[in-house]
Amino acid sequence: MGTVTWILVGAEWIFMAFICAVIGTMKGNPISGTFLGITLGPLGVLIVLLSKDKNRVPCPYCAKKIQKAAKICFHCQKEIVGNAT
Ligand SMILES: [Zn+2]
Repeated sequence: MGTVTWILVGAEWIFMAFICAVIGTMKGNPISGTFLGITLGPLGVLIVLLSKDKNRVPCPYCAKKIQKAAKICFHCQKEIVGNAT
């Protein structure tokens, strides 16, 4: 393979790491997201996509995913008590 091919592969890899960092940040896990992107490339993107969303928790009333910091459920409008963080 020539130099140009390697540059393209490298650019693609950096792009994968960037995608992983963005998805990881959205899921509240930017460091391991970026790490997976750098080490595994395209596979890392898939793992980060399938990984658990740390910023979202199920509502105790309707079990739909809501923001961890939410005081009132977006779906059923019930007040969330005991959600310290
Ligand atoms: Zn709810």
